Amino acid sequence: MVGAGPAGSAAARACAEEGLSTLCIEEHGTIGHPVQCAGLLSASAFAECEVSKRSVLNEVTGARMVSDLGGELLFDARTTKAYVVDRCLLDREMAERAADAGAEFRLKTSACGIRGTTLLTRGVRGREEIPFRLLIAADGPRGSVARMLNLRRPEVYLAGVQAEVPYAMDPRYVELHPNASPDFFGWVIPLSATRARVGLCAREHAGDHFARFIARYGENSLHLVSGVIPLGVMPQTYGHRALFVGDAAGFAKPTSGGGVYTGVRSAKHAAAVAACCARGEFDDGSLQDYERRWKEDFGRELDIGMKALHMRQKMTPEDIDRLCRTLNDPDLIATIVEHGDMDRPGTLLRRLALKPSLIRAMGILFASGVRQILTG
Ligand SMILES: Cc1cc2nc3c(=O)[nH]c(=O)nc-3n(C[C@H](O)[C@H](O)[C@H](O)COP(=O)(O)OP(=O)(O)OC[C@H]3O[C@@H](n4cnc5c(N)ncnc54)[C@H](O)[C@@H]3O)c2cc1C
Repeated sequence: MVGAGPAGSAAARACAEEGLSTLCIEEHGTIGHPVQCAGLLSASAFAECEVSKRSVLNEVTGARMVSDLGGELLFDARTTKAYVVDRCLLDREMAERAADAGAEFRLKTSACGIRGTTLLTRGVRGREEIPFRLLIAADGPRGSVARMLNLRRPEVYLAGVQAEVPYAMDPRYVELHPNASPDFFGWVIPLSATRARVGLCAREHAGDHFARFIARYGENSLHLVSGVIPLGVMPQTYGHRALFVGDAAGFAKPTSGGGVYTGVRSAKHAAAVAACCARGEFDDGSLQDYERRWKEDFGRELDIGMKALHMRQKMTPEDIDRLCRTLNDPDLIATIVEHGDMDRPGTLLRRLALKPSLIRAMGILFASGVRQILTG
């Protein structure tokens, strides 16, 4: 295993639980550090991590979408829909669970090359050559293992910037600001009634967009985070005795940038395939089963999410304002509350596509765009 983020630790734990001899190497000396995340996990994403609630800072029941041109809507499921977590603690506990299951961790050790079935590393123990039967690449957005194997990597990279600031807000609701960024969105995530994480992602000039956005909330930041999110899955997520999981494969959700849910799910599929292969061969034909499994699980949702992102990128600030105002209707809000799922947006889109009031207000181009997302 290369990388001890959520995907790497989940894979390490599942492999060790399958009885496989498992080594996880991590270039940093502290797991979970530096944090590059807003820490918002849907209830199901958090459940997938299989840890205690030690890392949970807040629970949210809904969201407020604000167009910043006057349009606004609030939806509240009145039950916990998502957790705001301390990613450092979450990652550490996931690694602890993997170690409890029997996985070995080697910190301050960086993968720097692959020769056949030997991983070349350098770190606190100097240069090492570690033989492997299967390599699980959980090395995040930088994707050094894919580069070592000359495999094509995800093509689109979003830059994210976020600050933790004092801010009074209702801690039950996350705020979404689609117009804070021309091609993604901004967020205000409550840590408590008096503190929030304020951030955004963008393809270009993220720093400039962030400077404008954060100015509304004050710049008294005690924690500044920046990082990249790869979008669009690499063309082949297996090969040369390696399986790619999490951000290393480009599994972050295009509608939210969240990558923990798909990262951990992909890790569990990779471990299941590793266990099957351990009883036979690690050839590409056997490893291919990994791609079949994750596609069957969340492949369609990633496709739908990517098309929805392209559609969002064509919308003007005025279109988004109109969408906010139109969705602010009791029937549509009830649909969002009932069918909204941060990890699987397809069901909600399908339901909304059937709503005549939405189609009337947003126009025929919007309607055909939604149809294309769902059928194309
Ligand atoms: C600003 C921002 C906000 C985000 N907010 C959210 C959110 O609210 N919810 C959510 O679900 N997701 C969010 N994400 C995405 C989320 O952080 C990632 O999808 C998630 O961390 C991916 O997990 P991973 O284990 O695949 O990779 P990572 O968490 O990136 O872990 C990869 C690990 O591999 C190690 N590594 C890399 N190269 C090597 C090497 N050569 N040798 C050894 N070790 C190596 C790294 O040090 C790292 O520890 C956000 C991302 C950003 C940038």
